Amino acid sequence: MLVPQPQRTLQVKTAPKTQTLLEVRGLRKYFDVTRGLFASKKIVKAVDDVSFTVKQGETHGLVGESGCGKSTLGRTIVRIYSPTSGQVLYRDKDVFAIKNAADLKAYQKRVQMIFQDPYASLNPRLTIGEIIRESMDIHNIGTHADREVRVQELIRLVGLKPDHVRRFPHEFSGGQRQRISIARTLALDPEFIVCDEPISALDVSIQAQIINLLEDLRDTFGLSYLFIAHDLSMVKHISHRISVMYLGHIVETGESSLLYRSPLHPYSQALLSSVCVPDPVAASRKQRILLKGEIPTPINPPPGCPFYKRCRHGMEICTLEMPLLKEVQGREVACHLY
Ligand code: SF4
Repeated sequence: MLVPQPQRTLQVKTAPKTQTLLEVRGLRKYFDVTRGLFASKKIVKAVDDVSFTVKQGETHGLVGESGCGKSTLGRTIVRIYSPTSGQVLYRDKDVFAIKNAADLKAYQKRVQMIFQDPYASLNPRLTIGEIIRESMDIHNIGTHADREVRVQELIRLVGLKPDHVRRFPHEFSGGQRQRISIARTLALDPEFIVCDEPISALDVSIQAQIINLLEDLRDTFGLSYLFIAHDLSMVKHISHRISVMYLGHIVETGESSLLYRSPLHPYSQALLSSVCVPDPVAASRKQRILLKGEIPTPINPPPGCPFYKRCRHGMEICTLEMPLLKEVQGREVACHLY
């Protein structure tokens, strides 16, 4: 889908793709869920020792089942949550070391988030124009007239009509509301956007439109995304690199095409085997790997590989030692098979 050409108040960014924008180093986010004074300690390890980088203009797909820690990771990057340990470097600056309110505001202007549920994330009492303008008001950007011009520009940019600014969120479909969320996110001219399952709540027919819009915006403005989804087919088209997450850990990470063509970790293989193929002949040849059992609880997980209880290749060492990410066939995999 072609995005209408914006009138330029948004900056076109032309920095090379090789420049690292965001680096996550050994990030941990644990929640203490102990109930009662004398109860034994219960710790949910939602994100456990996660590291990856995102380059400028790149989309990094993050995929895994619900409850594996993807959204917690995204929320920690944008500083909705404080980390238990580890670092997030944004343009080489430690994000968690930011103490002063002005610097934090500047970071949150550059790093934005699109939420999964476009129904819940828009204030039903505000018009679309007010919703998009709100963050510019808070950050005191330009005059009131400048902001009105910017709102019109953003509305066109996401494929909505100028008169939509006077309407309220309930008057729009799910896909249109996600377009409004995207316009609101772009209002502060961000560089990096955490897209937290932005298409999961939408009809399949609308999902492709939103993916195309996000791709066009990325290419036009040099944006970078962390694109969170629960199945590989959703992240395949938009991502340059993909990380597969299981129970708080990244178990495989690499170039999108490589990971999609030949996943190595047993969990990535199972995820890929469940992706629908449009070709009926290929689909009939495809072997589905069914994962037995539920995703285990992340409360006080046992030592060893977190995937052991569902893995068809489990060995004794898998119960004793946590496999670490290591380079295998051009990507990184955390599995004792390699
Ligand atoms: Fe399976 Fe062992 Fe590899 Fe874990 S480390 S995925 S249990 S083979």
